[in-house]
Amino acid sequence: MKPIGVLALQGDFEAHQAAVRQAGVGAVQVRTTRELEQVAGLIIPGGESTTMWKLLASENLLEPLRLFGLHRPIFGTCAGAILLAAEVSSPFQDALGLVDLAITRNAYGRQLASRVVRLAPEPEFIRRLGDGDLEAVFIRAPIIRRVGPGVTVLLRYHGDPVLVEQGRHLVATFHPELSLDRRVHQLFLRKVGP
Ligand code: GLN
Repeated sequence: MKPIGVLALQGDFEAHQAAVRQAGVGAVQVRTTRELEQVAGLIIPGGESTTMWKLLASENLLEPLRLFGLHRPIFGTCAGAILLAAEVSSPFQDALGLVDLAITRNAYGRQLASRVVRLAPEPEFIRRLGDGDLEAVFIRAPIIRRVGPGVTVLLRYHGDPVLVEQGRHLVATFHPELSLDRRVHQLFLRKVGP
């Protein structure tokens, strides 16, 4: 099987690479179109979405990434979630529009910039990944304000979706790579296939 790629322009890509390897699958860093062509699925890590967008543009990776997402799974976490969205606000920025959701950046405010919480999974999460609370690490996280009809919500925090999927793509507003529970990465690896 081709390895999983982790977009490595900016952000906490090394933690994702380690998480995928812990789940028993090869993971490589992706910085070029050529490297993107070698992977079966891609993780866009947390970091700073405006910076990441600018780096994607200057490396001529925006269009290759959009095309990749039409056929292959992408898992976006935090800044990566913002880049996958259809609509981004506060402040506005362009995004790939691969997942039908509207997202507001830095939505928990500066004082509560980061926190670790335990979440009770939604029924669809339990059906596929088993029951049991999941730790979620939020760091200057965005809030998903709207999801389209093709989007399934797997985890919520205070009623807002924080882990969702649409077809082959997975989106988390928190950082599963920073917790020990590997269920979220395993879910993405299942989407990528054997
Ligand atoms: N606040 C960042 C942004 O708007 C995302 C934070 C993160 O990825 N941990 O891009």
